[in-house]
Amino acid sequence: MKLTRPVRFVYFDLDDTLLDHSYAEHAALQALHAAEDRPFGTHTFDAVLAAYRSINPVVWQRYASGAYTKHQAKVGRFSQLLERLTLPTDTDEQLAHRYLQTYATFWRPVMGAMEAFQAIADHVPVGILTNGFVEVQQAKLRQFSMLSDLSATIVISEEVGVLKPDPRLFSEAAARAETRPEDILYVGDSLTSDVHGSLGAGWQVAWYAGDPFDHPDVVSFSVWDQLTALVREGS
Ligand SMILES: [Mg+2]
Repeated sequence: MKLTRPVRFVYFDLDDTLLDHSYAEHAALQALHAAEDRPFGTHTFDAVLAAYRSINPVVWQRYASGAYTKHQAKVGRFSQLLERLTLPTDTDEQLAHRYLQTYATFWRPVMGAMEAFQAIADHVPVGILTNGFVEVQQAKLRQFSMLSDLSATIVISEEVGVLKPDPRLFSEAAARAETRPEDILYVGDSLTSDVHGSLGAGWQVAWYAGDPFDHPDVVSFSVWDQLTALVREGS
């Protein structure tokens, strides 16, 4: 595993790369499911989780393409969830709000990621490049303030107006980092948003928890120390 070009700037994805989004999402839905007022009626938690996880990515795709407004994404995923569970949808707004509040109580780092972030930041300038709702992502960065303290730049898709893997977001991020695309390494977990997005922008990419990927600009890793060593060698 080796990078083919020197690295002069490292951008990190936030959700499911540095922070354990999937855990917080799961735990928040579980807490809502178990709440005294039973917002999901008699449906099992597994049914609720499966429905949510089939609805949410489609909602995000539509939000990314501009077909949905932010409100339609934020609240609409819960209207669709209630509909899918054949429950009245009049609580969708309240549920969306409760979900985000509960979700925030379960944020935690991915094991080893913070240490790697810090070690890499000692060697090269780093930044955060994330999709997501701006107020939610900013709250995460306030809670895990080391990330913003050590970052030269923070790029949240909603502020730019396009989401990963849109190349415009990557070129905006490169411009803000004042670094040529070929000198940037992106670290992320998503094949579509992060790997394809980076390749489309001419960046190198370290795919976290990814499969082997046969491309000179892609390395896959699962242990954070591997990434730290790789960047140290390559910067
Ligand atoms: Mg991610």
